Amino acid sequence: MTRRAFVAGNWKMNSSPNACGELASDVARKCGPASTSIDIALCPPAALLNLVAQALDGSPIQLGAQDCSEHDSGAFTGETSANTVKELGCSYVICGHSERRELFGDTNERVVAKLRAATRSGLVPIMCVGEQLADREAGRTEVLVGQQLDALLSGDDAVALSKDLVIAYEPVWAIGTGVTATPEQAQEVHAYIRARLHEKIGARAEDTQILYGGSVKPDNAAAIFSMPDIDGGLIGGASLEGDSFAAVCEAART
Ligand code: PEP
Repeated sequence: MTRRAFVAGNWKMNSSPNACGELASDVARKCGPASTSIDIALCPPAALLNLVAQALDGSPIQLGAQDCSEHDSGAFTGETSANTVKELGCSYVICGHSERRELFGDTNERVVAKLRAATRSGLVPIMCVGEQLADREAGRTEVLVGQQLDALLSGDDAVALSKDLVIAYEPVWAIGTGVTATPEQAQEVHAYIRARLHEKIGARAEDTQILYGGSVKPDNAAAIFSMPDIDGGLIGGASLEGDSFAAVCEAART
């Protein structure tokens, strides 16, 4: 198994043109040691991508966008295309974050359409999946995550799309709540996701990075990342401060 650990920081709608360069430079400085052996990316708001790209220039830390349109160009006011974020220096784009699904109506089908647009532009999509608390309590976690994956895996292009793809398992009840899944709960779902991928793409599923997201902090990161199918994290709150993000990256390295 050759998977590298990967830690991505999702800044959500935080920071500003005046503040983002300093945060990105601080992260680049403090994550320097970890960035030699793990993949690290920052995903700032779209309007800050250019400034953060400048601050990260010369650093191994990569850039990601938080979303992209499923369309390549045209009359889609307010949207940002995958080509644009690629040209701004992004390597990754998050597709289907639960906040996009819940607050902005991204359906399973739309998420996969965005993933296709990302792939067309040469970006690596970070596809988010995860269940609501009610689904978990009703024992329906695998059904829900399975439906989200099916939107990808049932398409004719599933094999091609799965080639360069990162998956983030983010139980909705753990995002921004301070409640995190136990390492064992997370591992169980990660193993399920990998098994589903395996059915479609065979042994290549062993190379797919599957991240955990949901209130990962410096004090719980090592235990979560020690699980066999957890290859790192998608980090919200703890990515907004250089020291805590560096500590999470360090936990992924060891
Ligand atoms: C996220 O935004 O994807 C996330 C996991 O947030 P937090 O780490 O704050 O729970």
